[in-house]
Amino acid sequence: MSVNLKRTHSATEGTLVYCRKSSEQEDRQVLSIESQMRETFILAKDNGLPIDPAKDVLTESRSAKVPGRPMFNEMIARVLSGKSSVIVAFKLDRLARNMQDGGMIIQLLQEGKIQRIITTERTYLPTDNVMMIAVELGMANQYSRDLSTHVRNSIKTKIALGQYPGLAPIGYLNDLSREEGARTIIADPERFDRVRKLWDLMLTGAYTVPQLHRLATREWHLTTPKYGKHGGRLVSKNTVYNVLTGHFYRGWFRINGELHWGSHRPMVTEEEFWRVQGLLGREGLPRPQKHFEFAFTGSLIRCGECGCSITAERRTKASRRDGRIFEWTYYRCVKKKPGMACTQKYVEAKELEGQIDAFLASITLPQSIAEWAIRQVKEEHGRETRVQEDALRELQTSVRTNETAKKRLTDLRLRDLIDDAEFIAKREELVGEGSRLAEQVEAFGLRSNQWLDRVEEAFSFCRVVRERFASGTPAEKRQILQIVGSNLVLQDKKLTIQPGEFLAGVQKAVENQEWLPLLDDVRNMFGNNTIRFKIETVESKIYSKAV
Ligand SMILES: [Zn+2]
Repeated sequence: MSVNLKRTHSATEGTLVYCRKSSEQEDRQVLSIESQMRETFILAKDNGLPIDPAKDVLTESRSAKVPGRPMFNEMIARVLSGKSSVIVAFKLDRLARNMQDGGMIIQLLQEGKIQRIITTERTYLPTDNVMMIAVELGMANQYSRDLSTHVRNSIKTKIALGQYPGLAPIGYLNDLSREEGARTIIADPERFDRVRKLWDLMLTGAYTVPQLHRLATREWHLTTPKYGKHGGRLVSKNTVYNVLTGHFYRGWFRINGELHWGSHRPMVTEEEFWRVQGLLGREGLPRPQKHFEFAFTGSLIRCGECGCSITAERRTKASRRDGRIFEWTYYRCVKKKPGMACTQKYVEAKELEGQIDAFLASITLPQSIAEWAIRQVKEEHGRETRVQEDALRELQTSVRTNETAKKRLTDLRLRDLIDDAEFIAKREELVGEGSRLAEQVEAFGLRSNQWLDRVEEAFSFCRVVRERFASGTPAEKRQILQIVGSNLVLQDKKLTIQPGEFLAGVQKAVENQEWLPLLDDVRNMFGNNTIRFKIETVESKIYSKAV
């Protein structure tokens, strides 16, 4: 059967490579025509399709927004004449971006005049969902106008529900037992485990893609599922590569360059997926930066030698000996000061966190001491409050007197005992006094309570900070470092943390095991300043937006 298929292919399938890049904004990120040619040649070779670079390659540097591209027209002419029926392109949107050309491609594909369009993302067949192709051609907006609202909404709904609206990649199947539009994607009982095995072996770090491809074809006889006349062939090297870089396998899918969450069962975990990308090296997908969430980047720490900011990097490496995977993060100076060659070396994250931990140990109060200190401060606060309560009571009496005076004034005016001018002048005076008094009452409460709250917060902070740092999310660790020290400098692999007044006092108290001097100072320190010692709980952001 496969021999038969092969003969049919070479007899009727003329292959055409089409590459396009315009100078338009939207094409800026697109590979150059040379790179597209290199990738498409590899793709054709992987699919067993011979290419004659002199005859089978069409390239043009034009926008595809308007119809009338010469090489596109040439491609259509060759398809219509039956000379070519397989098109290889880097991505589907290289072929068309306008209604007319896109519609032409879809029609030729549906009629079977184009038998396959092979791209680095996937292969499109005559049996494919038309709407899906339209979406990927970037012509969904225009195309959808011509479709019934029902279809348009159903595709949107599908995506919103996490249902991939296209052909399931290998290891999964479109559930054909349901009616069109309601088809979900299920694990392929025949292939799921074998495809998962590709991941398992890759994760050992001991295999390359060509080695896995050999195993999959020669030993496991892994074939693509059969859909009508298509499929049922041994997987290509490109398919293996597509599996190992496919977002689908970690539970996402990609439409028109955008990632959507998928409701299908993931084959691998996020961690496994990104570890494989790391192992694939340059062949793998770049791990989205957002995911790392380094704790101490930005301008938090500065280099002591050149003053530039400290940044972080993450590396993955597989041991050549036993395939185990090592991952590590390190911090280093960005070294961007012009005319200066900074000589600072990198510091591993573990080392840096160790130094921070040592500092936190130096300001950690034993629980008994922290509780005792809070009690002392509360008592002092109570005494102070009692003294001030009298003052407050007096203030409140004045407020009431003011209220009464205002009422009486109105009364006088109503009985015509004073005239308008007198009334207005006197009332303004009383209202002014009233609001001054109200402000004083408010400030009274705020001042005394905030003072107590802040001190309590600070002592609690010194009790839990070390623990919280050890178990915190990157955002929490960052917060803690920001609270404990300003002017953070990294030089010769040593982080200098300059504690503020309160923490310097705590440090001294911990060192000497003498707590009373600390209490004496606290009252003054917190009287006026607004330093907060509150650690907010922050969830780590995960994969909010991937590549
Ligand atoms: Zn530097």
